[in-house]
Amino acid sequence: MATVAGIPVNGDHWIGGERVSSPTTFDDHSPIDQSLLAQIARGGPAEVDAAVTAAQAAFPAWAATSRQERARLLHAIADGVEARLEDLAIVETTDNGALLRSHLRGVMPRVAHNFRFFADWLLDLGHEDFETRGHTNHVSWDPAGVCALITPWNAPLMLATWKIAPALAAGNTVVLKPAEWTPLTASLLADITAEAGLPAGVFNVVQGYGAEAGAALVADPRVRRISFTGSVPTARTIAAAAAANLTPLSLELGGKSPLIVFADADLDLAVNLAVEQYDNAGQVCLAGTRLLVEEAVAEEFTARFVERAQALKQGDPRDLTTDLGPNIHPKHVERIDGFVQRALDAGAKAVIGGGPNTDLGGLFYRPTLITGAEPGSEILTEEVFGPVLTVQTFNGEEEAVELANGTRFGLAATLITGDQERAERVSSQLVAGTVWVNCFFVRDLKAPFGGSRQSGVGREGGTWSFDFYCDVKNTVSAPWVR
Ligand code: NAD
Repeated sequence: MATVAGIPVNGDHWIGGERVSSPTTFDDHSPIDQSLLAQIARGGPAEVDAAVTAAQAAFPAWAATSRQERARLLHAIADGVEARLEDLAIVETTDNGALLRSHLRGVMPRVAHNFRFFADWLLDLGHEDFETRGHTNHVSWDPAGVCALITPWNAPLMLATWKIAPALAAGNTVVLKPAEWTPLTASLLADITAEAGLPAGVFNVVQGYGAEAGAALVADPRVRRISFTGSVPTARTIAAAAAANLTPLSLELGGKSPLIVFADADLDLAVNLAVEQYDNAGQVCLAGTRLLVEEAVAEEFTARFVERAQALKQGDPRDLTTDLGPNIHPKHVERIDGFVQRALDAGAKAVIGGGPNTDLGGLFYRPTLITGAEPGSEILTEEVFGPVLTVQTFNGEEEAVELANGTRFGLAATLITGDQERAERVSSQLVAGTVWVNCFFVRDLKAPFGGSRQSGVGREGGTWSFDFYCDVKNTVSAPWVR
């Protein structure tokens, strides 16, 4: 078996509580140095069929398991995640290049929390009975069946467990198809679920490419829910497949979120929050990549931003002092650079960055700030998903809102102002699933999370997750006459 930093990693599928291989494999490389990490089983229709069959067979018993027992098992999985937190963090960092520091301190604890949160929420769910003309309405959240979960590479285990935890808590069984560029932590999670005592077939992992394993999974008529996080073009393909079976689906997609700085803002705070948008080398769906700055403070803001951004330490993400790691894959770096070069060719300027970091080589892209881009051009409207921010200026609230809402996305918006009434006025006009005022990335699992416009369909979090993963039923009983 392959190892990552001495930790064994298994590239096979996890189906019906067993490791299952495929006739062919593909290579998984580290974005840090492009070394070969493991060979991954290349799943397709046969493996998907086996996994959905296993999940369907496990469903009746799991759905009938008491809420207390399901919650107990989810807490046991969280215990397992915490016990292997360092292994998960180092494997994830090696596989996707995000900072080890973030994985250790924030992301992996959050993975455990995902299980604990939905276990506890399950125990409180319901109690919605009410009366209509002497009749009792009893609302129940019945598990839907087999759930297909399809996830991206930028925060692999974190995003997968946002889906796995509520789906399992609700009494469903799961087939997860992780991203082909980051297959490893899902495989470790399979071991953790088995050690926690989760019955065979309740949680399954099929590895493979989207067009093969993913496409077969979303087309399977036995799948009762599809939850997808990824890009808009893939979402369109998945939605078309889901339409054939009318499978309900949840879509968490890309963004081109604004970060709006009013002249009355605390500029230290504004600069801090703006520099944060380079986190994970810009591969964050929620990133406020469009800096919209009120003209009166634009020069000062930009000068301070540049000073801070240039002090960021770019390098090996396993080094705990590194601020900015590599991007995920050569093809992705090419895509990022394509956006930047086309913008520069069209007359925009790179205030900083503007190309790969040739000192580091490989997949490290310099933190970039673009100014002077043509209004409506792709660098201002399309998701780059790299360490590339743009800056535009505005005068007054009306123009700020017009610019902020001026793309086909609506995932998030960040607003920095010293005026509370302005914050309320402006945030009420922003089209976004989440608006942060004088803060960024604060996320409570109780809160709804999702995107407006082409950033998504549906919401996850708290009750919204259970509403999606369940067949919500109302049972109306006439008064009992004895
Ligand atoms: P992607 O759409 O290329 O792939 C996502 C997943 O879909 C992968 O597992 C892939 O194998 C699978 N897939 C690809 N084609 C498929 C098909 N035809 N049928 C079924 N599955 C298929 O996205 P990506 O490049 O991995 O991720 C980056 C994107 O994800 C960005 O757009 C980013 O904004 C978005 N994202 C959104 C959120 C959110 O919560 N809104 C969070 C993280 C990332």
